[in-house]
Amino acid sequence: MLSLRNLVKVYPGPVSALRGVDLEIPRGMFGLLGPNGAGKSTLMKILSGLLEPTSGEVTLDGLDIVRHPEALRPHLGYLPQEFGFYPYLTGEAMLLYLLKLKGVTAPRGLKSLCAELLERVNLTFAAKRKVKEYSGGMRQRLGIAQALAGNPQLIIVDEPTAGLDPEERLRFYRLLAEVANERTVLLSTHIVEDVAMLCPRFAVIRQGRVVAITSPSEAKTSI
Ligand code: ADP
Ligand code: ADP
Repeated sequence: MLSLRNLVKVYPGPVSALRGVDLEIPRGMFGLLGPNGAGKSTLMKILSGLLEPTSGEVTLDGLDIVRHPEALRPHLGYLPQEFGFYPYLTGEAMLLYLLKLKGVTAPRGLKSLCAELLERVNLTFAAKRKVKEYSGGMRQRLGIAQALAGNPQLIIVDEPTAGLDPEERLRFYRLLAEVANERTVLLSTHIVEDVAMLCPRFAVIRQGRVVAITSPSEAKTSI
């Protein structure tokens, strides 16, 4: 369980990006839906330990993420909005490189872990191809492979379906749903279809505040 208490972020300016966010995020898939500028990326960066909040508290199963970001790392997988790619590496080489950067260890060796992860996201066929030849959907699946390394309790995905065509999007939804069976997946998006397809519950964020916590069926009847 991920808990956010009265989370505030003020950027120099000053810009109040988060104005006191309270949320309890259960296991499984949970969505964060809001228009551009609502504060989603700010929230995702705080949750992934990349940014310090101005005030407030975030805990993952009781672990204080704000005070101990390093303690969070083994429990966290992050798929950023734009996955930093090295297009001339093969998918396999890039994954291996990212696992090394992340400090992941594997009893049977990193190469065999890479093979397992590629299999998990259905990219075995493209392991030896250069990432620049991957489609948008294949890149996102490679992003999920690196996020899964180390079997984290929490995976954060930030606007993951932007730029995917409808077929790639469905395929990616299926993978995310599978991944969320065993952990918490927090999906941030401005695309209503993403939360409608995937998230039994989601929070609606606007101008730095959570304005509703709802489900796709409740949201439908209230519109
Ligand atoms: P979203 O991801 O929902 O589009 P953001 O978290 O990126 O929203 O932005 C929330 C608000 O904070 C916006 O008004 C944005 O302009 C502002 N903002 C984001 N990053 C910075 C920054 N580094 N410095 C100043 N303002 C920022
Ligand atoms: P996306 O997730 O972007 O839709 P696909 O997995 O559909 O990507 O694959 C993109 C390309 O790779 C397509 O040309 C597809 O036919 C091919 N492809 C997909 N899966 C396999 C596979 N298991 N073996 C061989 N080629 C595949």
